[in-house]
Amino acid sequence: MSTPPAFPASTVLGYPRIGPRRELKRALEAYWDGRSTREELDRAGAELRERTWLRLAELGLEALPSNTFSLYDHVLDTAVMLGAVPKRYLDAEDPYFAMARGTDGLAPLRMTKWFDTNYHYIVPEVGPDTAFALDAAKPLGEVRQARALGLETRPVVLGPVTFLLLSERGAAALDRLGDVLACYERLLAELAAEGVAWAQLDEPALVTDLGPAELAAVREAYERLGGAAERPGLLVAAPYGDLGEALPVLAATPVEAIGVDLVRGGLDGVAALAGKTVVAGVVSGRDVWRTEPERAAHALRTVRAHAAHVVVGTSCSLLHVPYDVAAEPDLDPALRARLAFAEQKVAEVVELARSSWDGPEPAAASVPLAAPVPAGERAPYAVRAAAQAERLGLPPLPVTTIGSFPQTGELRAARAAVAAGTLPEREYDRLVEAEIERAVRAQERLGLDVLVHGEPERNDMVQYFAEHLDGFAVTRDGWVQSYGSRCTRPPILHGDVSRPGPITVRWARHAQSLTDRPVKGMLTGPVTIVAWSFVRDDLPLRDVVFQVAEAIREEVSDLEAAGVPVIQVDEPALRELLPLRRAAQADYLEWSVAAYRRATSGADTATQIHTHLCYSDADQILAAIDGLDADVTTVESARSGGRILGAVGGFGRGLGPGVYDIHSPRVPGGEEVERLLREALKALPAGRLWVNPDCGLKTRTYEQVEAALTNVVAATRRLREEL
Ligand code: GLN
Ligand code: ZN
Repeated sequence: MSTPPAFPASTVLGYPRIGPRRELKRALEAYWDGRSTREELDRAGAELRERTWLRLAELGLEALPSNTFSLYDHVLDTAVMLGAVPKRYLDAEDPYFAMARGTDGLAPLRMTKWFDTNYHYIVPEVGPDTAFALDAAKPLGEVRQARALGLETRPVVLGPVTFLLLSERGAAALDRLGDVLACYERLLAELAAEGVAWAQLDEPALVTDLGPAELAAVREAYERLGGAAERPGLLVAAPYGDLGEALPVLAATPVEAIGVDLVRGGLDGVAALAGKTVVAGVVSGRDVWRTEPERAAHALRTVRAHAAHVVVGTSCSLLHVPYDVAAEPDLDPALRARLAFAEQKVAEVVELARSSWDGPEPAAASVPLAAPVPAGERAPYAVRAAAQAERLGLPPLPVTTIGSFPQTGELRAARAAVAAGTLPEREYDRLVEAEIERAVRAQERLGLDVLVHGEPERNDMVQYFAEHLDGFAVTRDGWVQSYGSRCTRPPILHGDVSRPGPITVRWARHAQSLTDRPVKGMLTGPVTIVAWSFVRDDLPLRDVVFQVAEAIREEVSDLEAAGVPVIQVDEPALRELLPLRRAAQADYLEWSVAAYRRATSGADTATQIHTHLCYSDADQILAAIDGLDADVTTVESARSGGRILGAVGGFGRGLGPGVYDIHSPRVPGGEEVERLLREALKALPAGRLWVNPDCGLKTRTYEQVEAALTNVVAATRRLREEL
């Protein structure tokens, strides 16, 4: 290995790939619906990559990344590159999308959240017989495509340790490290043969708690790859936190460059970076705020005192922020001036790289200490359960849903028409009311016990509340990829949050007026509203969450006053904000649970509070979920094979482990539901078991929902007879 050329002065670890107008989403959907060919899809991808490189070069960025594009997910791309395609997918027409989305008769690979972000990756399966074999076509193809434009790039690939740790077997999959490293060695040799000067291996798993075996894997991986005879210069990037105990291990290997997150991580360990090129992640890839130049310069000066060479970079890929503030002319100018999306962040990186980093020390951290946690207590669960049983008169194994019913294209079009000023608000409201009536009548017909209004008025469970609370702004085109073609537009929480007036009350009241059965009011919890927004950074996160909790508490109180007997406060993102390091988790769980209780504890003893969480790892925080003190908790279970049931032994309140995976159009049969309920009855007393789907029904059709819920109700009735 000859010494690589000096790393250029500025770079980003990655860039959004969905397209400034979500071009990739449209191209994917056309291909999936059979309206376009694979060639057309690939051409759309190629155009997006070309536009990105040309734009980054135009902005003055000196080191351009490649292979940060993906048609679906970069972890899936890595699995394919390494030949880790489970045999059952090999015969599918398009194995890549079969793994991502499934086909008729073939379930997709599992999907889960990427570190503490709202991005989801496809979980690779790595077993003893995975036949690893390198196919470097994608990274090489991107290098060549950029070169045809006259641009040299640095291919970015997920690193071997993180790849294995993220796979289904987790750390146990490190038993395949040797074979995986052989593929990476070959990859580096092919890149070197192509004339690539630098390659980036992303190792975000290195900012989590690693045990001795994992640290040994880091050492083995980078001793071996660093020692490879034919390879480009190696940048190992560790976004989303502090390298901690992995830093000295990595620094002792022959890799030339290390990318550190200096927004989330601290400066304490930088002395260990002596002799290395350091890509100093001083521009945040996780928020939408402008970088404070004094703070960035201070960090760069500190790194310069130790490192052999300092490169200005982002803390992580810019995948998690929207493209361009210029696309948001409607935002308040004072707010706009505080914002930086991907384009603006690149410009900041370039500017910092061109400046001298001299100047005054930054003012001490201006974030005030968190205020004390306000308390809030309801009567003991047993007292509440008795009062609620009396008020609601429900049968055993009550059947309910998670909130949303199918969202029609007509409603989405009507919302767009209201925004465009072509549909009067009153007419839209009538459409919403008609849709509520449709959902209520369907639930009565199907024989459900606790009804919902179906959430037809909501574009999104967070954005809807952001639009009705002060302190938030919403964007027009601020899309961020969540998974595959799915994007969200996170609201921007920029000021103190308050509730100018009731938000959901009129719709819940309307639904309750249509039926004698209890209707469940539907709210989003404070942690989830904050987790799925971009949040101000001048207050401790927990104080922001408590402000939102106060607003939700007011809404709970207004729903009660309107006669709504059951209120669900969804908290599906509770797990997502859990800090990556165990040492910080207990504190987070304490205040996040307290915030939820603040939002709900004003409720009367006879008002039944529900909560809902999805994603398969709810079992990991079950004690905290119990601490939410909701009367009923509904959780995903069918999709994740009932894994939660193994953990519910000590759960002290009502629980509804989902009996129906709503992610797929498949309708579950009655026997299947009955079997899942019998499993649940082994883990929970009948008096506390609820019957419900895994999650909301908004992505399904009425036909699918009615067929599925018919089977769910029939299975429940059969079991009730045995009780
Ligand atoms: N109440 C929401 C719904 O049914 C919950 C969605 C979620 O958990 N992500 O759509
Ligand atoms: Zn859910």
